[in-house]
Amino acid sequence: MKNLLQLQELDLRIQADRKRESEIPKQKNKFDVQKQRLREELNEREEAAKRILIEQRAIEQDIEQLQGQVQKYDQQLPTVKRNEEYQALLHQIDACKREIAQKEERVLALMQQLEDNRARLEEDRVRIQGELDEIDRECAEIDKELAIAVEERKKLEQQRAPIAKQVEPQLLALYERFYTRRSSGRAVVALRGDICSGCNMKMRPQVVNEILAGKTHTCSHCGRLLYDADAVGLDTADLSAE
Ligand SMILES: [Zn+2]
Repeated sequence: MKNLLQLQELDLRIQADRKRESEIPKQKNKFDVQKQRLREELNEREEAAKRILIEQRAIEQDIEQLQGQVQKYDQQLPTVKRNEEYQALLHQIDACKREIAQKEERVLALMQQLEDNRARLEEDRVRIQGELDEIDRECAEIDKELAIAVEERKKLEQQRAPIAKQVEPQLLALYERFYTRRSSGRAVVALRGDICSGCNMKMRPQVVNEILAGKTHTCSHCGRLLYDADAVGLDTADLSAE
């Protein structure tokens, strides 16, 4: 029984390592989300810059058109005979020029905006790249941690066979049967008075007596192997079921 308990302690460590191995890669998931968010942020900024550029181009085209219009009016001026017509033409030229001036002001404002935007985009790029590098570093740490956990577990697994060999085959079979139903936790637990410390259920007096006499029993409620802690000489306090 002592050997079996030793085997169990080893198996519990292997179980804990396996759990850690399955938990570690999950830490990387949150980094994937973070990476995606950063990429979207950068995209957003780039799109904003593009929108400004598009507006600027459209206004510049308007200006060109208006300038063409002014040129056309200018050419018409010498051909006009009546004074009212001449005045009307001048008036239109004036209106076009005012519109051009307004649009040129807007272009200047957009150019300033674009310049600010580009400077910010550059800052963002540096900052985001820094954050992405940090994430890569942390992911590499996680991979390293995982590799260590796997190595530790493999070392423990190598220790298992020699220990298992020293356990009575019948006990070992009962022990392993427990794990066909459950993947983790303790398969061997102490009898505390007449209580199974695995499930806290009361055992029949006959079963208790037989265990105290050295016979092997499994708990009829939870299926765990029961042992008499006094006979094994182990402190039961730290051997409660998980
Ligand atoms: Zn039980």
